[in-house]
Amino acid sequence: MKSIVVFCGSSDGYHESYREAAYTIGAMLAEQNIRVVYGGAKIGLMGAVAEGALAAGGKVIGVIPRFLETMEVAHDGLTELITVETMHERKLKMHELSDGIITLPGGWGTMEELFEMLTWGQLGLHSKPIGLLNVNGYYDALKALSDNMVTEGFLGEFISNSLLISEDPKELLEKMEAYTPVPTTKIMTKQTT
Ligand code: AMP
Repeated sequence: MKSIVVFCGSSDGYHESYREAAYTIGAMLAEQNIRVVYGGAKIGLMGAVAEGALAAGGKVIGVIPRFLETMEVAHDGLTELITVETMHERKLKMHELSDGIITLPGGWGTMEELFEMLTWGQLGLHSKPIGLLNVNGYYDALKALSDNMVTEGFLGEFISNSLLISEDPKELLEKMEAYTPVPTTKIMTKQTT
């Protein structure tokens, strides 16, 4: 992987560990010469990811819609800040610029970005690894919901396992590097094993 998009909260969360994890992920990607693509804001965990990567000498591309440029306080120290017109264009651009996806704790915006990539992967529209950093057990509830989707017959187990989860940034990246895309035949038939 040469370029990873990071989805995360525009807030900091109530525990310092969230911000620390975001900064660490940014720095770790930079140290491994992986370019960071993200939403272009300097606030919340988004800002922490960018700061971590920039401090470690990495390349960071922000993609921000014009109407959020002031509201979200665009980061002015990035390698490149791309301004787009709509939220849809923003997600498409981030998708085009990345070959892997990491999701950190965040709110509805983060979930929307993650789930679009999960559903596109499920339909075979991309085969990028998608990693979820489970800081502080933040995503335990999402994992439980996903397991319940499998139990209740709304999600194939094989597809559910394509969401890579770890509490440790380094382990998460290793899982993503080793990821083998779900074969399209399994996607279309919702095969479970
Ligand atoms: P949040 O996780 O809600 O703090 O949002 C994180 C990122 O998602 C920010 O860059 C927001 O601009 C973006 N975002 C917020 N709401 C939406 C939405 N409805 N659709 C797509 N992205 C969103």
